[in-house]
Amino acid sequence: MKRIAIITSGGDAPGMNAAIRAATLTAIKAGCEVFGVKRGYQGLITGEISELTSLTVSDILHRGGTILHSARSKEFATAEGREKAIKHLHDFGIEGIVVIGGDGSFRGALELSNLGFATVGIPGTIDNDIECTDLSIGFDTALNTVLDSINKIRDTAVSHDRVYVVEVMGKNSGFIALYAGLAGGADAVLIPEVEPDLDQVVQRIEMVSRIGRRHSIVIVAEGIFGDPLSGRAFSESAAFKVATYINLKVKKDTRVTILGHIQRGGSPSALDRTLGTRFGAKAVELLISGESRMMVGWVDHDLKVSPMDEAIARKKRVEPEVYALAETLASI
Ligand code: ATP
Repeated sequence: MKRIAIITSGGDAPGMNAAIRAATLTAIKAGCEVFGVKRGYQGLITGEISELTSLTVSDILHRGGTILHSARSKEFATAEGREKAIKHLHDFGIEGIVVIGGDGSFRGALELSNLGFATVGIPGTIDNDIECTDLSIGFDTALNTVLDSINKIRDTAVSHDRVYVVEVMGKNSGFIALYAGLAGGADAVLIPEVEPDLDQVVQRIEMVSRIGRRHSIVIVAEGIFGDPLSGRAFSESAAFKVATYINLKVKKDTRVTILGHIQRGGSPSALDRTLGTRFGAKAVELLISGESRMMVGWVDHDLKVSPMDEAIARKKRVEPEVYALAETLASI
């Protein structure tokens, strides 16, 4: 393997740059040339490919986002689009590709391997919804951003005796909401994996009032009422629906905060930098040793390599015992 390409695809996640840096340096050390593809699979179609050097990947470890930019490409999901993409890969003499992204990006990677290119995936999504790994790059940083926001919201909630309904990202997955609720001490957490029980949320707020606390924090995952990417109007956001119901049932000043894309940005945490670095190095080692269609993951505090097909076979589900603990603590 002499020429390797790196692609970041799907939603950006803090720590992707650490993976790009480690993959590039590991490949250079092994005597390979490394190329960065700009804007995900779209850049493969348009030929936005340029060499990555140890200088190009200097000073990026601490930066959020991805220096390679990211995109969602409908064209790449078509056979014609992929034909254009592989022409550029052939032109550059690229044999192996590291794909950093979510399950959609891995589906694209498998298509590329069907066309004769070796591919290794690195899970990079704040949603943490990829199977075969305990953690995806970006989840820890996003979670810390959410917790920092909850701390600030709690200050004003306490000062004004308010109920705050805080909406977090995660698409149809509840990891960010659940762990933010657990680590942020929320009074209720609503996640897509569990049918929303708004009467129970109201009961929790009333119970909190009875013990003498005048504020409440409710965490709502953006996907509790269906796919948040289906183009519904802003006013139909999950948090507004929940807050409207609470307002109807309890006489409390209820406010909504939608954290939105601040959850994606920011300097990656130590954990995301470390994960990105270890994933990036391992992915290149796998390509050089002739592996393909594999995903690098983190299981029981160690690297674990799994077939990419297995990683995308189903969505990772939140741990029932963690949800049960959040529920128990919120109801005492
Ligand atoms: P995130 O979890 O952040 O959304 P993702 O990788 O799942 O990340 P997607 O938008 O689902 O994000 O996929 C990224 C890109 O992968 C798509 O824009 C498309 O170019 C490509 N892709 C997705 N599914 C397929 C497929 N079945 N075949 C070929 N390419 C695909």
